Amino acid sequence: SIPLGFFGGIGGASKKGILVKGGNYLEALNSIDTVVFDKTGTLTKGVFSVNEIIAFDGFSKDEILEIASYAENFSNHPIAATILNEYKGKIDKSSIKDHIEIPGYGIKVIAEGKEILVGNSKLLKRENIKVPEADEIGTIVYVALDGKCVGYIVISDQLKDDSADTIKELKKMGVRRTIMLTGDNSATGSKIARELGLDAVYSELLPDQKVERFEELYENKLTKGNIIYVGDGINDAPVIARADVGIAMGALGSDAAIEAADIVLLTDEPSKLINAIKIARRTRSIVW
Ligand code: ADP
Ligand code: MG
Repeated sequence: SIPLGFFGGIGGASKKGILVKGGNYLEALNSIDTVVFDKTGTLTKGVFSVNEIIAFDGFSKDEILEIASYAENFSNHPIAATILNEYKGKIDKSSIKDHIEIPGYGIKVIAEGKEILVGNSKLLKRENIKVPEADEIGTIVYVALDGKCVGYIVISDQLKDDSADTIKELKKMGVRRTIMLTGDNSATGSKIARELGLDAVYSELLPDQKVERFEELYENKLTKGNIIYVGDGINDAPVIARADVGIAMGALGSDAAIEAADIVLLTDEPSKLINAIKIARRTRSIVW
């Protein structure tokens, strides 16, 4: 006889690049109240392009990019890769005395006796530095030197090809709420939420605040269904761990995220969630 697992269940899922750590997690996908997504690297590609560089105080655009690159050299964030890719010059690492990455904010380095900060508006506010107005739509990466903002870089990401269809399909399947959590600014968060037809977006969240927001979703849950979280694992392993079903996207995901996850998607496609739900439904109909 042919084992049922070949057609459905955990075995069938793994053939599609969906690793499920227990049959109960597959079963949990049969009743979903809410699906929560991370933004960068999950619904968007996480591969940004530089749209614009704004320089103040006699600095050139090239200098702003150079200063930013000295800091981003120490980060694994998708934003760092983007900026380093744009900067064609060399980085003299011997000039850098100290560096620290502040998750959800950005990077601080000491180079040639000067303090460089590269990150979002929260990072500048945290250091009591005046944040210049930036009207451009996109993720704004501010560059500060010795306590003063000297410019900023506007970058933007792209939606993954299957993100919009995934949201549409979840709605068709009866999911009540689709929500996005992001550390990015609210202009960018809202724009993406509109484009994808999400029910809600919470922006400008620090890694800890993502967990708090997530907890609040349990308080205003209307059905008995589960709350599912899908993230890429950069700064969101605690939310993956807290969800009824925590899903990590494999290719970029950190070890901590893969460890915390109940389901691991081996590719970067959010639509794998739809495949997983379909397998769960089929498995239930075989068992019952
Ligand atoms: P998300 O995946 O929702 O964008 P993150 O917690 O990974 O959330 O990042 C939140 C924000 O923190 C980013 O949008 C960016 O503004 C800032 N940030 C984090 N790391 C860096 C970095 N290395 N360089 C610049 N900005 C950063
Ligand atoms: Mg992320």
